[in-house]
Formats: sequence, C-alpha cells, structure tokens
Amino acid sequence: MTDEEAGGAERMEVSTELPETPQRLASWWDQQVDFYPIFLHHLAQFVPEIYFAEMDPDIEKQEESVQISIFTPLEWYLFGEDPDICLEKLKHSGAFQLCGKVFKSGETTYSCRDCAIDPTCVLCMDCFQNSVHKNHRYKMHTSTGGGFCDCGDIEAWKTGPFCVNHEPGRAATTKENSCCSLNEEVIAQARKIFPSVIKYIVEMTIWEEEKELLPELQIREKNEKYYCVLFNDEHHSYDHVIYSLQRALDCEPAEAQLHTTAIDKEGRRAVKAGAYAACQEAKEDIKSHSENVSQHPLHVEVLHSEVMAHQKFALRLGSWMNKIMSYSSDFRQIFCQACLREEPGSENPCPISRLMLWDAKLYKGARKILHELIFSSFFMEMEYKKLFSMEFVKYYKQLQKEYISDDHDRSISVTALSVQMFTVPTLARHLIEEQNVISVITETLLEVLPEYLDRNNKFNFQGYSQDKLGRVYAVICDLKYILISKPTVWTERLRMQFLEGFRSFLKILTCMQGMEEIRRQVGQHIEVDPDWEAAIAIQMQLKNILLMFQEWCACDEELLLVAYKECHKAVMRCSTSFLSSSKTIIQLCGHTVETKSYRVSEDLISIHLPLSRTLAGLHVRLSRLGAVSRLHEFVPFDFQVEALVEYPLRCLVLVAQVVAEMWRRNGLSLISQVFYYQDVKCREEMYDKDIIMLQIGASLMDPNTFLLLVLQRYELVDAFNKAISTKDQDLIKQYNTLIEEMLQVLIYIVGERYVPGVGNVTKEEVIMREIIHLLCIEPMPHSAIAKNLPENENNETGLENVINKVATFKKPGVSGHGVYELKDESLKDFNMYFYHYSKTQHSKAEHRQKKRRKQENKDEALPPPPPPEFCSAFSKVVNLLNCDIMMYILRTIFERAIDTDSNLWTEGMLQMAFHILALGLLEEKQQLQKAPEEEVTFDFYHKASRLGSSAMNAQNIQMLLEKLKGIPQLEGQKDMITWILQMFDTVKRLREKSCLIVATTSGSDSFKCDEITHDKEKAERKRKAEAARLHRQKIMAQMSALQKNFIETHKLMYDSTSEMPGKEDSIMEEESTPTVSDYSRIALGPKRGPSVTEKEVLTCILCQEEQEVKIENNAMVLSACVQKSTALTQHRGKPLGAETLDPLFMDPDLAYGTYTGSCGHVMHAVCWQKYFEAVQLSSQQRIHVDLFDLENGEYLCPLCKSLCNTVIPIIPLQPQKIDSENADALAQLLTLEQWIQTVLARISGYNMKHTKGEKSTVPVLFNQGMGDSTFEFHSILSFGVQSSIKYSNSIKEMVILFATTIYRIGLKVPPDETDPRIPMMTWSTCAFTIQAIENLLGDEGKPLFGALQNRQLNGLKALMQFAVAQRITCPQVLIQKHLIRLLSVVLPNLKSETTPCLLSIDLFHVLVGAVLAFPSLYWDDTVDLQPSSISSSYNHLYLFHLITMAHILQILLTIDTGLPLAQVQEDSEEAHSASSFFAEVSQYMNGCVGYSIPGWYLWVSLKNGIIPYLRCAALFFHYLLGVTPPEELLTNSAEGEYNALCSYLSLPTNLFLLFQEYWDTVKPLIQRWCADPTLINCLKQESTVVRYPRKRNSLIELPDDYSCLLNQASHFRCPRSADDERKHPVLCLFCGAILCSQNICCQEIVNGEEVGACIFHALHCGAGVCIFLKIRECRVVLVEGKARGCAYPAPYLDEYGETDPGLKRGNPLHLSRERYRKLHLVWQQHCIIEEIARSQETNQMLFGFNWQLL
Ligand SMILES: [Zn+2]
Ligand SMILES: [Zn+2]
Ligand SMILES: [Zn+2]
Ligand SMILES: [Zn+2]
Ligand SMILES: [Zn+2]
Ligand SMILES: [Zn+2]
Ligand SMILES: [Zn+2]
Repeated sequence: MTDEEAGGAERMEVSTELPETPQRLASWWDQQVDFYPIFLHHLAQFVPEIYFAEMDPDIEKQEESVQISIFTPLEWYLFGEDPDICLEKLKHSGAFQLCGKVFKSGETTYSCRDCAIDPTCVLCMDCFQNSVHKNHRYKMHTSTGGGFCDCGDIEAWKTGPFCVNHEPGRAATTKENSCCSLNEEVIAQARKIFPSVIKYIVEMTIWEEEKELLPELQIREKNEKYYCVLFNDEHHSYDHVIYSLQRALDCEPAEAQLHTTAIDKEGRRAVKAGAYAACQEAKEDIKSHSENVSQHPLHVEVLHSEVMAHQKFALRLGSWMNKIMSYSSDFRQIFCQACLREEPGSENPCPISRLMLWDAKLYKGARKILHELIFSSFFMEMEYKKLFSMEFVKYYKQLQKEYISDDHDRSISVTALSVQMFTVPTLARHLIEEQNVISVITETLLEVLPEYLDRNNKFNFQGYSQDKLGRVYAVICDLKYILISKPTVWTERLRMQFLEGFRSFLKILTCMQGMEEIRRQVGQHIEVDPDWEAAIAIQMQLKNILLMFQEWCACDEELLLVAYKECHKAVMRCSTSFLSSSKTIIQLCGHTVETKSYRVSEDLISIHLPLSRTLAGLHVRLSRLGAVSRLHEFVPFDFQVEALVEYPLRCLVLVAQVVAEMWRRNGLSLISQVFYYQDVKCREEMYDKDIIMLQIGASLMDPNTFLLLVLQRYELVDAFNKAISTKDQDLIKQYNTLIEEMLQVLIYIVGERYVPGVGNVTKEEVIMREIIHLLCIEPMPHSAIAKNLPENENNETGLENVINKVATFKKPGVSGHGVYELKDESLKDFNMYFYHYSKTQHSKAEHRQKKRRKQENKDEALPPPPPPEFCSAFSKVVNLLNCDIMMYILRTIFERAIDTDSNLWTEGMLQMAFHILALGLLEEKQQLQKAPEEEVTFDFYHKASRLGSSAMNAQNIQMLLEKLKGIPQLEGQKDMITWILQMFDTVKRLREKSCLIVATTSGSDSFKCDEITHDKEKAERKRKAEAARLHRQKIMAQMSALQKNFIETHKLMYDSTSEMPGKEDSIMEEESTPTVSDYSRIALGPKRGPSVTEKEVLTCILCQEEQEVKIENNAMVLSACVQKSTALTQHRGKPLGAETLDPLFMDPDLAYGTYTGSCGHVMHAVCWQKYFEAVQLSSQQRIHVDLFDLENGEYLCPLCKSLCNTVIPIIPLQPQKIDSENADALAQLLTLEQWIQTVLARISGYNMKHTKGEKSTVPVLFNQGMGDSTFEFHSILSFGVQSSIKYSNSIKEMVILFATTIYRIGLKVPPDETDPRIPMMTWSTCAFTIQAIENLLGDEGKPLFGALQNRQLNGLKALMQFAVAQRITCPQVLIQKHLIRLLSVVLPNLKSETTPCLLSIDLFHVLVGAVLAFPSLYWDDTVDLQPSSISSSYNHLYLFHLITMAHILQILLTIDTGLPLAQVQEDSEEAHSASSFFAEVSQYMNGCVGYSIPGWYLWVSLKNGIIPYLRCAALFFHYLLGVTPPEELLTNSAEGEYNALCSYLSLPTNLFLLFQEYWDTVKPLIQRWCADPTLINCLKQESTVVRYPRKRNSLIELPDDYSCLLNQASHFRCPRSADDERKHPVLCLFCGAILCSQNICCQEIVNGEEVGACIFHALHCGAGVCIFLKIRECRVVLVEGKARGCAYPAPYLDEYGETDPGLKRGNPLHLSRERYRKLHLVWQQHCIIEEIARSQETNQMLFGFNWQLL
C-alpha cells in the first residue's frame, strides 16, 4: 500500500478496516448480503487513486495496481480459490466452437465461393489456413475493421464450418473437459458478481457532462481537479485540430500533435488539467478556435477527475470481463442473462440496450471495447445472439437515426453489427416472423428519408449531403442482408409478415416511381447540372434487393399472385395523371387508336420507375410458374395494360431522343443517367425490365394498336404518315436517328427472349449468351468479362460455371494478361442487335464478325441466330412481326431507300429492317418445321409478298429487296439481302411442300445447297473486292507513315543506323576469318592479334547529321546514366562511408559499385549541350514536377526518354599491330624478372626525381637489396615507345565532364574537377560495369560475346575508350602515384604502408586500374610518350599474369571445403600441381590452412572460382584492344569456354604452371602475401570472408501462394509502436526485410528531411534503389533516391493470368516465375531508374504520391 500513503487521513481510516490479502477481502465480500454497494465502495477507494494522472499516466503501474487491488480480489471472490490455478485449468477446457476473432482494419479476411452461405461469411487468416476452404475457390479481402470470424458457425457454411482448431471434439477437450466444467458455487458467485459489474460499467459509460457521481462513489472529499477533454470527430482535419490546440492551450506543436494523434486513435483525450474555471476557459478557447464558417466547433467537455478515472476503469473492467468470458460458456451465458434483465420497476431498457442506445454518443475507444464485449458474449452463444438480435431490432429505428446523425465511421457504430445477425438464415426468419423486421427496416427508411420528399411525395435529392445519404445506404444494405438467404420452409406467419414487409417496401418504391422528373430544355442550356448521383446510387443499391424481393415472392404461386396484386395497385395509383389526361387519335394505314396525348419532348419525364419494373419482374416470374392465367382472379378490375406500358415506353423514347441529340441542352446530368440506365450496374432493374414491360404489352395488346402507340410515343407518326419533304438536314438526321432507335427497340421486343420466363431458357444459357456477345467484340481477360456481367446479391456473376463451354483460355506471356477467346461453334449465336451492346460495342462486334467471315471466305451476311421459343405467356409477341403496321413500316423504309430523292433513310435503318425481316422469316420457318402447315397462322411470308393496293405500295417486299440489291451504294448489304431472299424461298418451299412428310429436312438441305452456289458467286466478287482493298490499304499505309510524328520517324532512322555496327562486325568476321590465322585471337603478349576497328559514322539523334568518329573531330556522345549499385554485393546492407572512402581498392564483397549504363543514343556534344540548356530554361519557366533533378545533371534522353545524368564521349579505338618478328626477339630479352626490374627502376627513378624536388609524393618503400645497375630509369623506354595520342579539345572537355560525373555520383560528393580520386573512380566504374555485365550474361546463360544488346555493347565500348583517354586529361604524377599503390599489391619489393592485404581487395579492379594507368610510367617532362604496341602487349601480359596469380591464391585460401563437387581424376596433372602448390603455400601460412584438401578438389574449386574473373578480363581486353575473341566465346558452351578464355588471355590451361614458370620471381611475393598478419585475421572471420565464385544475387524467394505472404504480414508488428492500428507492411525484395511503410512511427530523418521506412531502408539496402512489395495491396513499387518511384505489376497472377492490384477482385494468387524473373532482370540490368522515369513520363497521375514517405 505504499503508493497510496500520499492520499490522506480519511482513506487510511477506511483501508484499515479492510482485510489485506485479496483472499481475505474476497471472503469478507462473501459475508455481505448485497454485493453492489460494497463493490462500489471498494472502487470508490481505489479507482481515483490508480487513475489519477490522466495527462501523463504510467500505464504499467496502473495495470499493476488495478490487478492487485481490484481484479485479483474479484477473481478470488468468483472462484473461491486461487484464480491463477483455476483459470489455468479452465484454459484447457475452454475450447469453444466459434472463433469469433474481431478484425482490425487492414487485416485480410477470406471467404469461400464454394461453401459460404453469402459473401459476408468470412474467416480469419488462422482459421482459413487450417480449413478445407484453402483448396477451394476462395476470395481474399482487406477488412475495414469491425467484422468477426465466422469459423464454427454452422449456419454460415454449406460445408466445412470448422477449421482444425475449432472443430468440436478436438484440442484437448476430451480428457479435461468433464472435470473442469464450472461447479455450482462458481456459477452462483458469477450470478452475484456479473450484474454488479455490468451495472457499474453501464452507469459509468452512460455519462453526461454535468452529472454528479453516484453517492456511493463519493466517499472522498471532493477535490477540485478537472480535465478539459477533447473528443474526436470526422469533420476536422488533423492539422486543424493541431492548430486549434496550439492556439487555445498555447502549447508547442509537438505537444499538440501528440494530443491529436491520441484523440484520433482513442477518440478522446484530456488536454488540460486544472480547476473547473480554467478548464471551462480552455474549453471555450478550443471551441472558438476550431469553429469557422464551414465547421462546427470541436466537441469539448469538462469532466471531474474522478469521473474520468471511473470511466477509464469501467472500460478496463470491460476488457477484464472479456477475458473471464473467454474461459467458459457458462460465464458468457450468465453475463448475457444479466445484460438482458430489465431493472424491476425501472423505465430503463435492459443494460445491453442502454449501452447500444448510448453508442452514438460514445467515443471511439469506448465503443470498441463495448462492441468487443458484445462479440465475446452474445455472438458466441447462438441462443443469446437471437435474444440480442431481438433487442437490436426493437431499437433499430432509434439506433439507425442516431447513426445517421453521428459522424463516426460505420465500422465503429453498433449498427454495423446488423450484418452479423441479419445474414444468419434462422435469425433472419425468426426476426421476420416475430418482429416483422422487413417492415421495421423499410419504415426506418421512410422515417429518415422524408427530408428528401417533394410536395408530390416523391424523392428529390437535389442538394443532398453525400455523407448523410451514404449513411442511409447502410439501412438499405440491412434490407439486403435480411433477404440474402431465401427461406426453404414457409410458415403462415412468415408469409404474412413477409407480405407486410413487401407492402411497406412498395411504399418506398412509390416515393421513387417518377421521382426527379425532368423536362426537355429548349432554347437555352440549363445553368446548373442537377444532382443525379444520389438517385442513381440508390437504384444501384436497390438493384439486388428488388431482385431478391421478386425471388422471395416467387416462392409459391399464391404469394406471388398476392404480391402481384399489391404491386399492380401501387403502379395504378402512380398512373392517375396518365389515366386522367386528355386523349388524341392516331391513324395509320387503316388502323385507328385512341390514346392519351403526351410528348416526351415537351412534358415531364422520369427515368425512375421501380414499381413498374418490379411488376414486370413479378410478371416474368408468374409466367415462369405458368400462373399468368390465374391473374384475373387477383386483378379482376381493368388490367390497364396501356397504362403499364406507358412509363417504360417513355423511358426508351427518352433514350432515343438523347441519342438524337434533342436533349443536349439538358447537360451532362441527363447523359449520365441514361448511361447508368443501360449500364450493367443498373440495367437489370431499369432498362431490361422496361423492355420486358413492352414485351408484356405486346403480348397482351393488339399488335397494330401497340405499334401505333409506339410510333406515337416516338413522335414518328408523321414521319411515316406522309412523305415529309423537308430540306432541314438537322431535322432529317433527328428523324432518322429516332427511327433507328425505335426499330432497335422493336427488334428487342420481338427478338430478346433470354430471360427465364420470357423465353424458354435457363439462367446458364443467359449468362453464356452474355459472354458470347462480349467475346464477339474481342478476346477479353476474365476481369473484363466479369465487370460486364451483372453481379447477384452474392457478388457472383455465374461466369465460371459456363465460360469453358463457350470460350477457351489463352495464357499470358511475360507481360499482359490471359484472355478468353470465343470457341468457333459459339460464333453462330452472334446477334448483331444484342440489346446489351452499347453503340461502340455494336459497331466493333459487327466489324470484327464481318472481317472474320471475310477471312474465312464466307459471305458477309450477319442474320439473327434462331431465337429460343417464347414462353406461352409471351407467345403473342411475335404477332408484331406480321401485323399491318410493321409491314407498312418496313415497306416505307425500303421504298425510301430506293427513291433517289429521299433522305429519310440510312443504311443502319435498312440493316435493322433486314433484321426484322429475317426474324419474321425465321419465326415462320421454325413454326412450319414444328407443326403442320395449316395450323401455322403466322403468315409473315404471305404478308411480305402480298402486293399493296395503292399506287404507293404497288410492289411487295420481295420485289423491293431485289431492287435494293441492285443499288451500288448498298454493296455492303448485298449478302444480307441475298440471305433474306433465300429465306423467302425456303419458307415458300416449306409452305408448298408441307404436304410432303419430310418438309423439314428437305427444306434445310436445299437451303444448304443454295448457300454453296451462292458462296461460289461470292468468291468471284470477293477476289475483285480484295484486290481493290489491298490497293487501298497500301495507299493508307503510305499516308499514315507520312503522318507518323517526328520522334517516331527519328526513332526509325536511328534504329536502322544503330544496327549498322553489328552488321559490319559480322561481315568483317566472315571476311577476315580465312586470312587471320589462329594467333590472331590472342589478346595479350607477343602473339597478340591485330585490333579490328571499323570506320564509325554515326548520326546525331538531335540534328540528324552524320559524322565520322575521329579523335581529332568534335566529340560525339552517348547519353548515359551513372548510378550506385548493390547488384553484386556479397554483404547487403553494409554501411557506406562515402566521403572518406579510398576508392582505389574495391572491397572483395563489391558492396557498392558505380555502374555506367547507356541507352545507346548518339548526339553531337554541342547538340546535347544545347538540348540540356533548353531543358534547363524551360524548367525555369514552368514548374517542373520532380521528373528529374536538373541540378544533378539529370535529363531524359531526347529519343527514348530514359533517365540520364551524363554523356559518354565516343572515342575511336586506336588500332595497334605487332610485328611478330620483333615480338619474338623481345621475348628472349624481356622476362618477367627483367620486366619487374625495369618497372621498379622507373619507379625508383621517379621517386628520386620527386624527392630531389620539393616533396616526396610517392610513398614507396624499397627493398634496398635490389641494386642492379643495368636497370636504370630509362630502360623501360628501350622496349618501344610512341608518342601519345592527341585528342581534340572537344573530346577532352567531354572526358573531363563525364569523369567528374562518375566521381560525383560514385562518391556522392560535390563535383570537383581536380580531385585526385577522379581517375580512381573512372577505373572503378569500368571494372564494376564489366563485372555487372559479365554477371548478367552468366545469369541469363548467354555467351560472353555476341549476346550483348546494342546499347550495352556501345556503352561498354565507349566506356573503355573513354577510360584510356581519361588518363591523359590528368596530371601524370597523380596517375603514377595511384599506379604505384596498385602495383604494390603484386610487385615484390614494392610495398607501401597502405597496401591492403590480399584478401581485402577485388583483383579485377586492380587489373583494370593497373592496365589503364600503366602508360603513365612512360611519361617524361619533355616528351609525352606512351608504350609502343609491343611494349604494351608485354605490360598487359605480365600485369595480367601477376594479378591472376594473386587471384588464384585468393581463391585457394578462401576455398569452401564443404561444397559437393564433381570429382575429376585424382591423378590428373592439374590435381598434382594443385596439391604440391597448396602444400608449399600452407608452409608459409604456418598451418593456417589445412593440408587435407585433396588435389582434385583444389583444382575444381579453382577452376569454378576463377572463371568470372577470366570472363571479365576477356571482356575488358577485348573492348580495350579490339582483338577478336575465339569462336568458342561466341557460343554457349561451358566446356569450350575455359580453354578459349585461357588461350585468349595467354594462360596455360593448367593454371599452376604459371607459378612453376615464374617460381623464383613470385616466391617472395607469395611469402609476403601469406605472412601478412591482416590476411590471417581476415581468414579467421569466417562470416565475412568472400569466397569465389561470388554468389550471384537474386530477388528473395517468394512463396507460390500469395496468402502465405499475407499470413506473414499479419504477424508483422511495427518495431517502433505498440498500437495495432492499420499498418502497411512492405517487403524488400532484395533482402526480405518487412518494413512499416507510410507511417509516422517509422520515419527517419536523413539530411534534415523526413523519409519513410522504405526510402530509408533503400538507402542502405540498394544504395538508394530498391524493389518493394506492398503486401496488403499486392503491388510492387520501384524506388530511387528520396523522391522517385513507380508502381510495377506484381509477379502474382490469378488463375486467369491477371494481376490484382489492391486485391480488388480477391481471387487466389500464385507466383508467376517468369514475371518474377523479369523483375529480377530489371534489377540486374540496372533498369530500375529507367522504369521509374518512363512510368513517370507516361503516367503523370502518380505524382500525387509522396514517395519520400514510403
Ligand atoms: Zn477465426
Ligand atoms: Zn477456426
Ligand atoms: Zn470452401
Ligand atoms: Zn547533332
Ligand atoms: Zn536513349
Ligand atoms: Zn532490403
Ligand atoms: Zn512503424
């Protein structure tokens, strides 16, 4: 009790009365009669003590004290014994069936498409991984928080409701369960304790600002400590809150930010403590600072410190309750019972309802705990879940209303629990039966929507609030949940209650029927587009609900008929204005109809007709049940079919008028509405139903009357009644469009029968047809098909069940996605006038299908496929086809087409007329084939071939067709006309031959026969047409080539020139092979072959002028990019210390290299400079978004838009040739020994010269024993010299510029042209670039030569020649200084103090540096000399041999003895040499390396280890000298390669022979290397020793199944913060680290700037460049530097070959090895920067993303 002493005397007094141990306290409690007052008394004592420091609490201490002084006694009291022991026992027995895990926002949830009752049934990661659904068709989604794992709920799953862990009878329940169920005493105790606990929680939670504490809690003297508490809302921005706090409290930004973060997370926070007045003042201050014109003030309250403490503890008590309940079902039940018990004599609802009702007033943190309490109690016990649901429904209205006026997210509202209850089938049924929940929901809707009702009692959402209406959608959603599973058993009560709900629902529809009416705008354009989104959004929300209502109604005939009656009544009530309007009379070709006068183009119209459409839906279902005939029993009064058809017809006319541009002054709002009317998201309950309603009309009305009505509504009676002789082209165009639109709708009415109930089709056939028509447009990926099919209430399209019947899947390549292609046999089902085609889809499909038929050499007719039969209720619709008015319409159109003066027709119109003709003929043919001729009354043939009576129509349709065929402009329609005429014949023959028995077969035979002859005649015509087409195509191609834009043309020109060098190479090889004998393919030593060089003429991509590359000419340059690289590192994440680094020696782990790449595009240096300046200028003028960093020399290649930061000068290779006789002579003279002596003499000479001067710049230690005077300073010159190359100034300038860039980027330092490290960096980038390219070639399994891309080849060539020239732009003394340090590694007698040990350098870097620097030894003050060809061939040979020997030793010393190797012959010569050499070396090492390694093992390891080095050396010397490599290096054979390398590089194939040959010379050297103490130290550090061959880097292994990665991510915890709010785990694909991205907690400061965890990681892991995988989004991102990045397709594909960024579709994903490999190559080819630049160029949208904080 020590920490409580500070309190005061009166507390002491109380506490002395109390027993000291929890055990004693518990038993004291046990003696009291009533627990509640004692409990309160106890809490009154301790709670304010424990939670006293609200502003700055010590959480750990709070936890400890609350445990000791409250929870432990409570638990003792509950269990009557040591709670730890008891809980431990219970833990093993507590395995309960339901998982019940509550999802946090961002967590992945899984649903099973095969087994889940509906898509709201989900599993948590653990349960999913342990369930059978893992191998089913599952979906992955990201939770928005608040959901609940349904594992174990048998009602949620058709199969596999349990995962392995929650399966009953598993998990240790068998043994201990029996003995550990709760005993009676504990249960009795729980019954005593829980109600008090609940009461306290409820009392404290439901608190109002001014309320006094309960008297029982006021046992202490009231202190004067208050808090000013700020609450979270969703209106104020983060920054605004910070600002308000800073102003009001006068605090630091950091403190304000701290408060704000806490408020956002918890929902409230005390921001000030003090006396009441001070807090009150702060409250007013905050309010006034946060208030402005558009926003309410923040919510602030002043609370007494004790209230605050009790509230805090109440929540803690809630979590304690959660824990206790997790142990036993009995506890849960007792808790639930207590929560449901109403206080006797009180008006209050039961405790749980009180909490629910207070929910909207609570802050976030409190809500979360309360919801968890509900989850862990009620939702875990089915029986109580039901009782809870009933309470929930009881207060449903009130809860929803409060939610709607609340401003918190739905995920933290108690109303979000509805999905957990309403989707459970038994609960839903119970709630409908017992509480009429459908009516409750619809009435709630009616009560929350009145503010949107206009004076006609229709909705009108003008000026609606999106947020508020969005909340109303949640109520609509509940309706969907309730209806989601259709009952299988119907009780009388269920039927009654459902019908009542339906009636109530019709009330809502009534408010929607005809809402938001519009009138056509004439004259002026409307000023403001009206809001339309809200109404359409409600339509979308309602779509599936309407369908479900219809399905429920269709459960039995009686129900359906009653529902129909109700719906019909409702429609009629809404049609009164129509029924009472005035009448008008229409007449056409002898038919007269009296109808209401109404014009869509003048009167009000609405697109919203849910009642009419529901009725249409019910009618179809009635037809499906075959019960239309019983309709008159229920709708005995006048059926008023005309009124039913009226409104849907108006909608279709509206669409036609919009297409005809009659409504263009009504703005975009109308266009959007019409779009959605027909869009897949709405069409099922809008457009489709309107068509059905017209079909109902056509089936019930006289066809002539119906058509006249249609003509009247389309306002086209005049257009058909008389010959309109208008010259107004606009009007004609308008008429033509309207006629086309009307004909299309007529086609749909007659032809569209793919709705079960309209035609005899199944649901599957409907979906198949949709898919066929989509694929007739083009092959499509799965997602595109799915997007174009309507989803049902379970978000399913039914696509997978049928797609394989109509289409074949084609797998994707390395990029792109897999697509479905239509099977050939499905092509016959193509209907050009498919009613779901948009205008563009229609023309695309028509075009494609015609093209296909042409390719197959068929005619181009696309007649309708034979439609399925109508259901009997709709069978009369076909009479539209052969009625008088239809014939009249068709004839009129044909006549106008023939009439040369008439403009009132179009080809499209004609096509539709043909289509209608074809439908009529098909119908008659089908009927004739099924029934005897005399029974077929459908006489389309007869009507169409009948002659008219008047002069106007003296020709029948057949004759008209013949005429049309002859019109040249209608060439394109000929095939269709021919097809129709043949159909006429067929039908005629069927009519005539019907007396014959086999009418059907002969009919179709002759038809086929006709087709063949017809095809022949076609073929002839086709050939001519084809020739004409080809000619046209050629001309078109020429035209378009001319039109290609500037860049494109240039690209073409470039490509042709860039191929030139390659071509020349190959030609040269072919020609030179016979003349050049073997020796020519050796690069080093006296036998060196000739350099092969070509005159190079290049074209500048900027000015397009050609120029030959010569050293005396102005420079030409290649655009290039220099970057730091970790692509080869053996030690990822090694810290870099750039500024102080000595880059002369490269570490053998190649941790950070400098890579130079080029896109291979050539420019004049001058042109490039001008271009660069122009870019700079333009960027100053307009704000350039961070596309590239001009200050760092970045620019985009003018041609290919790669990111570049410098240019490489192109310098020609200086050909060198050796006179072989001279060379042989010299060989006698210049042994290695002598060469070394000469070099040393030269060095020592320089040294003396310099020391004679002022200062010694060459820090060399000489072994003074060497004093052979025959070797003096000038002897090096006697082997041959030549004068140095003279480069043009322009070239020199570019050399300096490029070298400075390499230095600046490679070392990350400011540019400095005079820095001594510049030459080092030049050599270093040469060596590293070669190593990277060699590694890449090896990785890809390509041969060393001949496989490089042009850009790599040109870049490498230019880089080497640049390096040669770079030496000359430097002071030679400097080069010498570097050279001597390099040589000190491999020359005996030359060692400086700074010479590193043999194991800590990369020898290839030494080789490159030494070779490039060596000519500086020939430099003299007076004359500028360089070695002659022959001298340099020896220099190269000896340098290479010495360094190779050093490398051999490196390899042997670091040999890994654990590798399994293929044994070669033990007694081979190489093995022997290896053993003896290694034995020798071991002596020098004093036993540091073992003897025991067998010779063959040494040899094999050496050979494997040295090959990369040899390959690099071959590349280097080739591009340096231009000597042709041996054939074997151009092919891909490992065997030949080694020997060829040795031969090219003048090495013996038994490498140990080198040592034998030079033994006397190198022995001291080997001794020196081996005796180096640093080396021995290096060897001891096993882990950091680099072994050869170096391991090849690759991206980390990824699991095949994406859900494994999600699983990993779910276990990820941010290393910096403990809260479990939404995180963005991101995986580094270089090293496998998982990082906490886009989160303040893990930001770092770099150079004073905040960067996100990923960017920070990339700095070390990839030298600024990195590839990450955002795990929860399945997106790859590439980043570079601090501010650049781009998205890249993830290598995971679903079974349809598509990626799923953002896991939007949620299909199972699997790793695509090819794509991952491609990503790997992007990295290894150093193309990440390029990808980023290119994506930013093309996709400016991504600029919004702040990459820096990734
Ligand atoms: Zn679970
Ligand atoms: Zn489970
Ligand atoms: Zn399943
Ligand atoms: Zn140029
Ligand atoms: Zn380029
Ligand atoms: Zn990494
Ligand atoms: Zn973090």
